[in-house]
Amino acid sequence: MKFARLAGPGRLGIADAPDPVAGPGEVVVRLAACGVCGTDLEKLKGNYQSAGRIGHEPVGTLQAVGAGVPSLSVGERVWVHHHVPCYACRVCERGEYTFCASYSKSNIDPGGFAEMFRVPSEHVARGAVQRLDDSLSWEVGSLLEPAGCGLTAIRRVGFHHGDSVFVIGLGPVGILYARLARALGAGWVGGSDLSARRRSAAEGSGVDHAVDAHDPEEAERRVSSATGSEGADLVVVATGAPAAVTLGARLVRRGGTLNLFGLPEAGSRLDVDLQQLYLRGVRVVPSYATTERDIGDVQRLLVARRLDLSDLVTHRYPVTEVVKAFEMAARPSDALKVVVTGPAY
Ligand SMILES: [Zn+2]
Ligand SMILES: [Zn+2]
Repeated sequence: MKFARLAGPGRLGIADAPDPVAGPGEVVVRLAACGVCGTDLEKLKGNYQSAGRIGHEPVGTLQAVGAGVPSLSVGERVWVHHHVPCYACRVCERGEYTFCASYSKSNIDPGGFAEMFRVPSEHVARGAVQRLDDSLSWEVGSLLEPAGCGLTAIRRVGFHHGDSVFVIGLGPVGILYARLARALGAGWVGGSDLSARRRSAAEGSGVDHAVDAHDPEEAERRVSSATGSEGADLVVVATGAPAAVTLGARLVRRGGTLNLFGLPEAGSRLDVDLQQLYLRGVRVVPSYATTERDIGDVQRLLVARRLDLSDLVTHRYPVTEVVKAFEMAARPSDALKVVVTGPAY
Protein backbone atom coordinates (compact mmCIF):
# COMPACT_ATOMS: atom_id res chain seq x y z
CA MET A 1 0.00 0.00 0.00
CA LYS A 2 1.00 3.64 -0.48
CA PHE A 3 1.46 6.17 2.27
CA ALA A 4 2.73 9.72 2.66
CA ARG A 5 6.11 9.91 4.35
CA LEU A 6 7.68 13.00 5.85
CA ALA A 7 11.39 12.25 5.74
CA GLY A 8 12.42 15.65 7.15
CA PRO A 9 11.63 19.35 6.74
CA GLY A 10 10.38 19.94 3.19
CA ARG A 11 10.75 16.26 2.30
CA LEU A 12 7.26 14.93 1.75
CA GLY A 13 6.78 12.00 -0.62
CA ILE A 14 4.99 8.74 -1.31
CA ALA A 15 6.37 5.46 -0.04
CA ASP A 16 5.35 1.81 -0.31
CA ALA A 17 4.82 -0.45 2.67
CA PRO A 18 3.39 -3.93 3.18
CA ASP A 19 -0.32 -3.89 4.04
CA PRO A 20 -0.62 -3.56 7.83
CA VAL A 21 -1.83 -6.55 9.86
CA ALA A 22 -4.12 -6.36 12.89
CA GLY A 23 -2.53 -8.00 15.94
CA PRO A 24 -4.51 -8.96 19.06
CA GLY A 25 -6.67 -6.04 20.20
CA GLU A 26 -5.80 -3.99 17.12
CA VAL A 27 -7.65 -2.97 13.96
CA VAL A 28 -6.61 -1.99 10.44
CA VAL A 29 -8.51 0.82 8.74
CA ARG A 30 -8.87 1.32 5.00
CA LEU A 31 -8.73 5.09 4.52
CA ALA A 32 -11.67 7.08 3.19
CA ALA A 33 -10.55 10.61 4.04
CA CYS A 34 -8.11 12.46 6.27
CA GLY A 35 -7.94 16.25 6.54
CA VAL A 36 -4.73 18.22 6.16
CA CYS A 37 -4.28 20.13 9.43
CA GLY A 38 -2.29 23.31 9.99
CA THR A 39 -0.01 21.26 12.25
CA ASP A 40 0.77 18.93 9.30
CA LEU A 41 1.88 21.99 7.34
CA GLU A 42 4.05 23.13 10.27
CA LYS A 43 5.65 19.68 10.44
CA LEU A 44 6.52 19.92 6.74
CA LYS A 45 8.14 23.30 7.39
CA GLY A 46 10.07 21.80 10.32
CA ASN A 47 8.39 24.12 12.85
CA TYR A 48 6.73 21.49 14.99
CA GLN A 49 8.86 19.20 17.11
CA SER A 50 6.96 15.97 17.31
CA ALA A 51 7.28 12.34 16.35
CA GLY A 52 7.00 13.29 12.66
CA ARG A 53 3.88 11.30 11.85
CA ILE A 54 1.44 13.16 9.63
CA GLY A 55 -2.31 12.84 9.16
CA HIS A 56 -4.47 12.64 12.27
CA GLU A 57 -8.05 13.27 11.14
CA PRO A 58 -8.87 9.93 9.49
CA VAL A 59 -12.11 8.13 8.75
CA GLY A 60 -12.49 4.87 6.87
CA THR A 61 -13.80 1.34 6.90
CA LEU A 62 -12.49 -1.49 9.04
CA GLN A 63 -10.31 -3.70 6.87
CA ALA A 64 -9.32 -6.13 9.63
CA VAL A 65 -10.20 -6.62 13.28
CA GLY A 66 -7.74 -8.43 15.55
CA ALA A 67 -8.60 -11.06 18.15
CA GLY A 68 -10.35 -9.81 21.25
CA VAL A 69 -12.24 -6.83 19.79
CA PRO A 70 -15.87 -7.94 20.03
CA SER A 71 -17.29 -4.42 19.66
CA LEU A 72 -16.07 -3.80 16.10
CA SER A 73 -16.52 -5.70 12.83
CA VAL A 74 -14.96 -5.67 9.37
CA GLY A 75 -16.60 -3.27 6.93
CA GLU A 76 -17.89 -0.79 9.51
CA ARG A 77 -17.44 2.92 8.87
CA VAL A 78 -15.38 4.43 11.68
CA TRP A 79 -13.57 7.52 12.89
CA VAL A 80 -10.28 7.09 14.68
CA HIS A 81 -8.57 9.32 17.19
CA HIS A 82 -4.79 9.14 16.87
CA HIS A 83 -3.81 9.96 20.48
CA VAL A 84 -5.16 8.44 23.69
CA PRO A 85 -4.49 9.45 27.30
CA CYS A 86 -3.66 6.83 29.94
CA TYR A 87 -6.73 7.72 32.07
CA ALA A 88 -4.70 6.70 35.16
CA CYS A 89 -2.12 9.42 35.93
CA ARG A 90 -2.57 12.55 38.08
CA VAL A 91 -3.04 14.71 34.99
CA CYS A 92 -5.78 12.44 33.65
CA GLU A 93 -7.43 12.23 37.09
CA ARG A 94 -7.92 15.98 36.90
CA GLY A 95 -9.44 15.75 33.43
CA GLU A 96 -6.52 17.39 31.59
CA TYR A 97 -6.30 14.39 29.26
CA THR A 98 -4.49 16.00 26.32
CA PHE A 99 -1.61 16.96 28.65
CA CYS A 100 -1.14 13.38 29.87
CA ALA A 101 2.51 12.41 29.33
CA SER A 102 1.58 9.33 27.32
CA TYR A 103 -1.04 11.10 25.19
CA SER A 104 1.10 12.38 22.33
CA LYS A 105 3.36 9.31 22.39
CA SER A 106 0.49 7.11 21.21
CA ASN A 107 -0.27 7.14 17.49
CA ILE A 108 -1.66 5.28 14.52
CA ASP A 109 0.79 3.55 12.17
CA PRO A 110 2.06 4.88 9.76
CA GLY A 111 -0.30 7.90 10.02
CA GLY A 112 -3.56 9.08 8.50
CA PHE A 113 -2.30 9.79 4.97
CA ALA A 114 -2.01 6.09 4.19
CA GLU A 115 -4.22 3.81 2.12
CA MET A 116 -4.37 1.60 5.21
CA PHE A 117 -3.21 2.13 8.77
CA ARG A 118 -2.95 0.06 11.94
CA VAL A 119 -4.58 1.23 15.15
CA PRO A 120 -2.78 -0.02 18.30
CA SER A 121 -4.63 -1.95 21.00
CA GLU A 122 -4.47 0.87 23.57
CA HIS A 123 -6.47 3.08 21.20
CA VAL A 124 -9.04 0.39 20.54
CA ALA A 125 -9.38 -0.47 24.24
CA ARG A 126 -9.86 3.18 25.28
CA GLY A 127 -12.57 3.93 22.71
CA ALA A 128 -10.56 5.81 20.07
CA VAL A 129 -12.17 3.80 17.24
CA GLN A 130 -15.87 4.52 16.98
CA ARG A 131 -18.64 4.07 14.49
CA LEU A 132 -19.21 7.00 12.15
CA ASP A 133 -22.92 7.77 12.11
CA ASP A 134 -24.63 6.78 8.84
CA SER A 135 -25.95 10.32 8.42
CA LEU A 136 -22.43 11.78 8.20
CA SER A 137 -20.40 11.87 5.00
CA TRP A 138 -16.73 10.90 4.92
CA GLU A 139 -15.81 14.56 4.57
CA VAL A 140 -17.83 15.65 7.59
CA GLY A 141 -16.37 12.64 9.43
CA SER A 142 -12.87 13.91 8.71
CA LEU A 143 -13.81 17.17 10.46
CA LEU A 144 -14.70 15.44 13.72
CA GLU A 145 -11.17 15.62 15.14
CA PRO A 146 -10.54 19.33 14.43
CA ALA A 147 -14.05 20.16 15.69
CA GLY A 148 -13.28 18.06 18.77
CA CYS A 149 -10.27 20.32 19.40
CA GLY A 150 -12.69 23.26 19.38
CA LEU A 151 -15.04 21.57 21.82
CA THR A 152 -12.19 20.62 24.16
CA ALA A 153 -11.04 24.26 24.11
CA ILE A 154 -14.54 25.60 24.76
CA ARG A 155 -14.87 23.29 27.74
CA ARG A 156 -11.42 24.16 29.04
CA VAL A 157 -11.95 27.93 28.95
CA GLY A 158 -15.19 27.87 30.94
CA PHE A 159 -17.50 29.14 28.23
CA HIS A 160 -20.88 30.59 29.26
CA HIS A 161 -24.14 30.86 27.35
CA GLY A 162 -24.39 34.34 25.82
CA ASP A 163 -20.62 35.00 25.83
CA SER A 164 -19.24 37.30 23.16
CA VAL A 165 -16.49 35.58 21.20
CA PHE A 166 -13.84 36.89 18.82
CA VAL A 167 -11.79 34.42 16.76
CA ILE A 168 -8.47 35.65 15.34
CA GLY A 169 -7.72 33.46 12.32
CA LEU A 170 -10.68 32.12 10.35
CA GLY A 171 -9.03 29.10 8.80
CA PRO A 172 -10.92 25.79 9.01
CA VAL A 173 -10.35 25.40 12.76
CA GLY A 174 -11.22 29.03 13.47
CA ILE A 175 -14.50 28.61 11.60
CA LEU A 176 -15.17 25.28 13.35
CA TYR A 177 -14.59 26.96 16.70
CA ALA A 178 -16.92 29.85 15.82
CA ARG A 179 -19.67 27.46 14.71
CA LEU A 180 -19.36 25.37 17.84
CA ALA A 181 -19.48 28.46 20.03
CA ARG A 182 -22.59 29.53 18.14
CA ALA A 183 -24.18 26.09 18.51
CA LEU A 184 -23.48 26.18 22.25
CA GLY A 185 -25.17 29.53 22.74
CA ALA A 186 -22.59 32.27 22.10
CA GLY A 187 -23.94 35.81 21.85
CA TRP A 188 -22.06 37.94 19.36
CA VAL A 189 -19.34 36.13 17.37
CA GLY A 190 -16.71 38.12 15.50
CA GLY A 191 -13.47 37.16 13.84
CA SER A 192 -10.62 38.31 11.63
CA ASP A 193 -8.51 36.87 8.85
CA LEU A 194 -6.11 38.11 6.18
CA SER A 195 -7.94 36.15 3.46
CA ALA A 196 -11.10 37.61 1.91
CA ARG A 197 -12.09 34.05 0.89
CA ARG A 198 -12.02 32.90 4.49
CA ARG A 199 -13.78 36.01 5.80
CA SER A 200 -16.68 35.48 3.44
CA ALA A 201 -16.86 31.76 4.28
CA ALA A 202 -17.01 32.66 7.97
CA GLU A 203 -19.71 35.30 7.62
CA GLY A 204 -23.18 33.88 7.40
CA SER A 205 -22.07 30.59 8.96
CA GLY A 206 -21.54 31.35 12.62
CA VAL A 207 -19.57 34.61 12.44
CA ASP A 208 -21.53 37.89 12.64
CA HIS A 209 -18.65 40.11 11.51
CA ALA A 210 -15.38 39.05 9.90
CA VAL A 211 -12.80 41.83 9.90
CA ASP A 212 -9.80 42.19 7.57
CA ALA A 213 -6.83 41.25 9.77
CA HIS A 214 -4.64 43.73 7.87
CA ASP A 215 -6.38 46.39 9.98
CA PRO A 216 -6.14 45.52 13.71
CA GLU A 217 -7.78 48.83 14.70
CA GLU A 218 -10.90 47.77 12.81
CA ALA A 219 -11.01 44.62 14.98
CA GLU A 220 -10.83 46.80 18.10
CA ARG A 221 -13.61 49.08 16.81
CA ARG A 222 -15.84 46.11 15.94
CA VAL A 223 -15.36 44.37 19.28
CA SER A 224 -15.86 47.63 21.13
CA SER A 225 -19.14 48.46 19.38
CA ALA A 226 -20.47 44.90 19.71
CA THR A 227 -19.72 44.68 23.44
CA GLY A 228 -20.62 48.16 24.71
CA SER A 229 -16.89 49.08 24.86
CA GLU A 230 -16.19 46.23 27.32
CA GLY A 231 -14.21 43.86 25.12
CA ALA A 232 -15.01 40.26 24.23
CA ASP A 233 -15.66 37.68 26.95
CA LEU A 234 -13.57 35.17 25.02
CA VAL A 235 -10.87 35.85 22.43
CA VAL A 236 -9.60 32.81 20.56
CA VAL A 237 -6.19 32.91 18.91
CA ALA A 238 -6.68 30.35 16.14
CA THR A 239 -3.36 31.05 14.46
CA GLY A 240 0.23 30.63 15.57
CA ALA A 241 1.26 34.23 14.90
CA PRO A 242 2.54 35.95 18.09
CA ALA A 243 1.10 39.28 16.83
CA ALA A 244 -2.36 37.72 17.08
CA VAL A 245 -1.83 37.10 20.80
CA THR A 246 -0.78 40.73 21.24
CA LEU A 247 -3.96 41.84 19.47
CA GLY A 248 -6.09 39.35 21.41
CA ALA A 249 -4.87 40.79 24.72
CA ARG A 250 -6.28 44.15 23.62
CA LEU A 251 -9.64 42.74 22.46
CA VAL A 252 -10.52 40.76 25.58
CA ARG A 253 -12.57 42.38 28.37
CA ARG A 254 -11.41 42.84 31.97
CA GLY A 255 -11.53 39.43 33.62
CA GLY A 256 -12.08 37.77 30.24
CA THR A 257 -10.30 34.84 28.65
CA LEU A 258 -7.64 34.68 25.96
CA ASN A 259 -7.58 31.16 24.53
CA LEU A 260 -4.34 30.11 22.82
CA PHE A 261 -5.74 27.63 20.32
CA GLY A 262 -3.49 27.73 17.23
CA LEU A 263 -0.06 26.08 17.29
CA PRO A 264 2.66 28.74 17.78
CA GLU A 265 6.00 28.26 16.06
CA ALA A 266 8.60 26.62 18.29
CA GLY A 267 10.61 29.29 20.07
CA SER A 268 8.18 32.16 19.38
CA ARG A 269 7.86 34.75 22.17
CA LEU A 270 4.96 36.78 23.56
CA ASP A 271 4.93 40.55 23.24
CA VAL A 272 2.23 41.56 25.71
CA ASP A 273 2.14 44.28 28.38
CA LEU A 274 2.16 42.02 31.43
CA GLN A 275 1.09 44.78 33.80
CA GLN A 276 -2.03 45.36 31.68
CA LEU A 277 -2.70 41.63 31.59
CA TYR A 278 -2.35 41.50 35.38
CA LEU A 279 -4.38 44.60 36.19
CA ARG A 280 -7.13 43.63 33.75
CA GLY A 281 -7.26 40.07 35.09
CA VAL A 282 -7.06 38.39 31.72
CA ARG A 283 -6.96 34.60 31.92
CA VAL A 284 -4.61 33.10 29.33
CA VAL A 285 -5.69 29.52 28.64
CA PRO A 286 -3.89 27.32 26.12
CA SER A 287 -5.81 24.39 24.69
CA TYR A 288 -4.11 21.61 22.80
CA ALA A 289 -5.81 18.76 20.91
CA THR A 290 -8.86 16.74 21.96
CA THR A 291 -10.11 13.41 23.25
CA GLU A 292 -12.32 10.70 21.85
CA ARG A 293 -14.96 11.73 24.39
CA ASP A 294 -15.20 15.28 23.01
CA ILE A 295 -15.07 13.98 19.43
CA GLY A 296 -18.01 11.72 20.27
CA ASP A 297 -19.89 14.75 21.60
CA VAL A 298 -19.23 16.64 18.35
CA GLN A 299 -20.66 13.69 16.44
CA ARG A 300 -23.79 13.88 18.62
CA LEU A 301 -24.16 17.62 17.86
CA LEU A 302 -23.86 16.88 14.13
CA VAL A 303 -26.35 14.00 14.22
CA ALA A 304 -28.80 16.20 16.14
CA ARG A 305 -28.29 18.86 13.44
CA ARG A 306 -27.22 21.46 15.97
CA LEU A 307 -24.02 21.85 13.96
CA ASP A 308 -23.45 21.80 10.20
CA LEU A 309 -19.98 21.33 8.71
CA SER A 310 -20.98 20.10 5.27
CA ASP A 311 -19.53 23.10 3.38
CA LEU A 312 -15.99 23.28 4.79
CA VAL A 313 -14.12 20.78 2.61
CA THR A 314 -13.16 22.52 -0.63
CA HIS A 315 -10.47 20.22 -2.11
CA ARG A 316 -9.78 16.48 -2.28
CA TYR A 317 -6.64 14.62 -3.42
CA PRO A 318 -5.81 10.90 -3.36
CA VAL A 319 -2.94 9.73 -1.12
CA THR A 320 -0.62 9.59 -4.14
CA GLU A 321 -1.12 13.36 -4.61
CA VAL A 322 -0.42 14.31 -1.02
CA VAL A 323 2.18 16.90 -2.05
CA LYS A 324 -0.50 18.76 -4.06
CA ALA A 325 -2.88 18.49 -1.11
CA PHE A 326 -0.34 20.17 1.17
CA GLU A 327 0.36 22.89 -1.41
CA MET A 328 -3.34 23.67 -1.69
CA ALA A 329 -3.88 23.63 2.07
CA ALA A 330 -1.16 26.28 2.39
CA ARG A 331 -3.09 28.67 0.11
CA PRO A 332 -5.68 30.41 2.32
CA SER A 333 -6.95 32.54 -0.55
CA ASP A 334 -8.05 29.39 -2.43
CA ALA A 335 -8.76 26.65 0.07
CA LEU A 336 -10.68 26.08 3.24
CA LYS A 337 -10.30 22.44 4.27
CA VAL A 338 -8.31 20.04 2.09
CA VAL A 339 -8.72 16.29 2.52
CA VAL A 340 -6.60 13.39 1.35
CA THR A 341 -8.75 10.48 0.17
CA GLY A 342 -8.11 6.75 0.26
CA PRO A 343 -9.49 3.60 -1.37
CA ALA A 344 -12.62 3.54 0.83
CA TYR A 345 -13.68 7.02 -0.26
ZN1 LIG B 1 -5.44 18.75 13.53
ZN1 LIG C 1 -2.59 10.12 31.91
